[in-house]
Amino acid sequence: MSCGRKYPPHPRLTRCPSCGGLLDVKVHPREPPSWRIWEQRKSGVWRYWELLPAISGVKPVTLGEGATPLVELERIGRMLGLKRLYAKNEGQNPTGSFKDRGMTVAVTLAKAIKARALIVASTGNTAASVSAYAARAGLRRIVVVPRRKTALGKLAQSVLYGADIVEIEGSFDAALKAVMTAVEEDPRLYPLNSFNPWRLEGQKTLAYEVAEALGGEPPDWVVVPVGNAGNISAIWKGFKELYRYGLITRLPRMAGVQAERAAPLARAWQKGLDEPLFVDKPETRATAIRIGHPVNWPKAMKAVKESNGVFTMVSDEEIMKAQAMLARLEGIAVEPASAASLAGLARLVEDGVIAPDETVVIVLTGHGLKDPQAMLEAGARRYIAGSPEEAVKIVLGLAES
Ligand SMILES: *Cc1c(COP(=O)(O)O)cnc(C)c1O
Ligand SMILES: [Zn+2]
Repeated sequence: MSCGRKYPPHPRLTRCPSCGGLLDVKVHPREPPSWRIWEQRKSGVWRYWELLPAISGVKPVTLGEGATPLVELERIGRMLGLKRLYAKNEGQNPTGSFKDRGMTVAVTLAKAIKARALIVASTGNTAASVSAYAARAGLRRIVVVPRRKTALGKLAQSVLYGADIVEIEGSFDAALKAVMTAVEEDPRLYPLNSFNPWRLEGQKTLAYEVAEALGGEPPDWVVVPVGNAGNISAIWKGFKELYRYGLITRLPRMAGVQAERAAPLARAWQKGLDEPLFVDKPETRATAIRIGHPVNWPKAMKAVKESNGVFTMVSDEEIMKAQAMLARLEGIAVEPASAASLAGLARLVEDGVIAPDETVVIVLTGHGLKDPQAMLEAGARRYIAGSPEEAVKIVLGLAES
């Protein structure tokens, strides 16, 4: 994407060998893709294999990822004054986040080239996903995560899936730097961060599923929380491919949401700048987007510009409020970073950027159970009963009130 060089595809190509910049995958399917053919196949990421980097004769490393529900949010929609509001609930993926879409593709490639070990820097979800898919593939997995800043559920997943876990003092950005240096020193390590373009190929299938669920058309807006900025880029790529092959007749607008104290892209956007205002000490309760130097920023900036979209930012308070709303008004438990989608949507509606008659899809990126501490902070009415009799008394009193 920086120097303009082109390469024949190979799983080892994760960054430009010439300039070190990002690589963008160009797909040339042998057969033109069609909704009719896709509909006849089993749902999930691999339903769309002609647009994915498959290697003939190699069986996918899969756990049944993708095919997540697109849920209409009637009550929240009414509150915000929106006629058609939907949530793509990515928490229902095998390890509880959208990362699984990318991992099924990238780990399949890593297995095909017999990588010695998979390595990744992560705020938690990528580590959990790599650990699971590596286990499935029979490959070693090493994860580097910020010490004391990784949500409990995510850390526990990596522990259970049998990863080697390196906990680093500092933020995700420090972890990513360490991984990049390690990969340069020992090229047998296979990196699975989102600068690896093969991962994004899997993640773009979210766009295909959304368009398919809406009857072959995109929504007017797709709202996505932005951390390292891979997912918003991947989703935009997915919609552009559908458009190129005539499977949709228009494109959605992309809205990227960041947390106020970790908002290098949203702050730059506000000021009309073309490059991020990097943040050295990012902070937010939404740990999955606690990133100050998003590696995919050129792709994300391009996605938002090309789609005539926006970046916006929200406070932790708005995020936690949105998390409780999703759970209490719609029965959907998400982790704080995912709730940033809804918080950002509320802002954009209030600012008049998104209009009442537009169709909106918010991407709910990860499951609530990932961060039990954040769930508990929502607060509930809790009572202590010393005996069954006392419990009965409390319950009857509650029924009365
Ligand atoms: C990874 C992640 C994000 C951020 O996605 P990027 O591709 O890094 O922008 C947001 N929410 C959750 C739950 C995640 O796991
Ligand atoms: Zn280059």
